[in-house]
Amino acid sequence: MKNRKLLMIPGPIEFEPEVLRAMGVQTPSHVAPNFIEVFGNCLDMMKKIWLSPSGQPFIVSGSGTLAMDMAAANLVELGDNALVISSGYFGDRFKDILDRYGANTTILSANIGEEVALDIIEQELKNRKYKLLTITHVDTSTGVLIDPEPIAALAKKYNVISVLDGVCSVAGEEIQQDKWGIDIVLTASQKAIGVPPGLALLVVSQKAIGIWKNRKTPVSNYYADWQNWLPIMKAYQERRPSYFGTPPVNLIIALEKSLSLILEEGIHNRINRHKKLASVFREAIQAIGLTILPKTETVAANTLTAIYYPEKIKSIDLLREMNNNDIIIAGGLHPQIKASYFRIGHMGSISENDMISTLSALERVFYKLNYKFELGKSLKVFERACIE
Ligand code: PMP
Repeated sequence: MKNRKLLMIPGPIEFEPEVLRAMGVQTPSHVAPNFIEVFGNCLDMMKKIWLSPSGQPFIVSGSGTLAMDMAAANLVELGDNALVISSGYFGDRFKDILDRYGANTTILSANIGEEVALDIIEQELKNRKYKLLTITHVDTSTGVLIDPEPIAALAKKYNVISVLDGVCSVAGEEIQQDKWGIDIVLTASQKAIGVPPGLALLVVSQKAIGIWKNRKTPVSNYYADWQNWLPIMKAYQERRPSYFGTPPVNLIIALEKSLSLILEEGIHNRINRHKKLASVFREAIQAIGLTILPKTETVAANTLTAIYYPEKIKSIDLLREMNNNDIIIAGGLHPQIKASYFRIGHMGSISENDMISTLSALERVFYKLNYKFELGKSLKVFERACIE
């Protein structure tokens, strides 16, 4: 389509046409037998994608922040100690949410572009008894990827509930919830899950459900309370009608399509596709002299890339010129360095061709803005790596 824009921000992403078509069906009743089947299928497929056969899935109308809010509202009681491991803006947001429910929150913040060292986390867990800890798998503000497995193992060792913010990672980065022993893995629909914004998705361990059941005080957030949602999820899992709040029926129909596509591709193949495309993209970007924000390859996310502007190029110019070339990219988000970098999302339906279009537009725009290098270099590196 002429003048069709390619959305290369870290969510919402480009959605598969089949998913968008599925959304356009005439809206059925939320208790119609065919919709009950769709909802139940979505819950069953989430357990497969999260690799958590023992977990309790939740699908609730709201954005990723609601998923974070739900984890905090249901697990925190006044005065509980919570530990936030932060590598950017979204880690910091978890502290705000936990504090709102009366937690005593300690935050361990990484230097920009780095991760918090495991021995620092362990020292903190030794020093104080924590009820829960949070990890941001990919902090979308920095493009930093954290390996949740060893942190979840530490949480287990010190008997702390682990919560993984997987908003920018589920179905794009490797997660094995049951095997790694993570209590909550949460996300939102608009990223690697591949469905327009509007769904908060969580899978919760039986241990975390047990801790919630044994609370001494009621959950102080009415909408987020699992008391309201758990019976609804169980009913859909058992293919029975039920009601608490009207579910976003069309989004859930689209979710069924997208989750089926993910399982058709195979979760491991999907993760590998993200890894391959992202590492080649980073190589191509660096080949034209640009610097990426994550300090090492190990902590570089595969769902988005954060890149520093070359000297003298301003955010507003790059974003505007890319838009004129029909590629939408995102500016910086981390408050301390917001104006010095930009972000390109590459998750979900992302293909080699999308990446090539983006690199080509970037090269042309940089040239126009007077940042010079060997024209075509990033494309050459990308294409060569793709055929090797
Ligand atoms: N956590 C992370 C890592 C995110 O990237 C985002 C959204 N960019 C959120 C939480 C919040 O999600 P939402 O915008 O859907 O509320």
